[in-house]
Amino acid sequence: MPTVNAFAATSASEPLSRTTIERRDVGAKDVLIEIAYSGICHSDIHTVRGEWGDITYPQVVGHEIVGTVTEVGSEVTLHKVGDRVGVGCMVNSCRECENCLAGEEQYCLNGNTGTYASVDRDGSITQGGYSTHIVVVEDFVLRVPEAIPFEKAAPLLCAGVTTYSPLAHWKVGPGSRVAVVGMGGLGHMAVKIAHAMGAEVTVLSQSLSKQEDGLRLGADHYYATSDPETFDKLKNTFDLIVNSVSAKIDINAYLSLLRLDGTLVSVGAPPEPLPVQVFSLFGNRRSFAGSGIGSIRETQEMLDFCAEHDIAPETELVGADDINEAYERVLASDVRYRFVIDVSTLA
Ligand SMILES: [Zn+2]
Ligand SMILES: [Zn+2]
Repeated sequence: MPTVNAFAATSASEPLSRTTIERRDVGAKDVLIEIAYSGICHSDIHTVRGEWGDITYPQVVGHEIVGTVTEVGSEVTLHKVGDRVGVGCMVNSCRECENCLAGEEQYCLNGNTGTYASVDRDGSITQGGYSTHIVVVEDFVLRVPEAIPFEKAAPLLCAGVTTYSPLAHWKVGPGSRVAVVGMGGLGHMAVKIAHAMGAEVTVLSQSLSKQEDGLRLGADHYYATSDPETFDKLKNTFDLIVNSVSAKIDINAYLSLLRLDGTLVSVGAPPEPLPVQVFSLFGNRRSFAGSGIGSIRETQEMLDFCAEHDIAPETELVGADDINEAYERVLASDVRYRFVIDVSTLA
């Protein structure tokens, strides 16, 4: 088994540090990827700190991975040595359940295999992208089009598809009125993608501090939710509201902004429940929904869409030794809008 360099959490409270991990040998259907860049997602921080449940240490996180194929197994047909590829939030699924057979393996009824902190098919714990190499079964590996700058492509694998999936599912297009709640890693991608789909895009952010960015990235309107007039003014306006905020918000106030048959979909995951008044749903026959990442098919579709429309995340590149500081800045919302680790600094 190849031993590779990595940056790992050794406990819930210690800073992450350099280490080595073992990757499995390349199997018949596996692809070995030399990782070039790995994005930092808020989920990484929740996971290593044990905030989403106990995990086994040491744990390497990272599920926004891009790199180059350096070896393929004997039965691999989808990728070849030298290809630019990506890996997102999952690396396998049961392939047998109703949802897997429907091509929605992110909703695998037996649980998809997460890229990190998940029990792999061989019983080992999966280790993520803060590492120089990864071995992944070929059909969970995506093609990264040449048109997307490599150092910016990584965040598309989680933040990109997590926002693309609900926008595509609810058929956003020209004439749609879309609101994006929150202008962070997910929110800024939702703005870019919804705009490229032809929607009229409104950002609903706590303050106007990122207004200039929002308008530059494709929003048509920008409102501060700290201003109560915002909610009066925008009543009955939107077809789709994408909530990217992972903190408790007054969900009923946001539901009131939906027009007939409108949907509020949460992609952010606040730890506490959001109380919904059923009366908020009666008016305008509104729906309150959730959406989790996206399928492999949808992830490829998103990458091709971003290449075609010249979309890439706004990123800040950091070295491995900056990861702990980057975590503090993510928690302080002090990043515009996604950190990407230059994995060559782990070599
Ligand atoms: Zn993520
Ligand atoms: Zn399944």
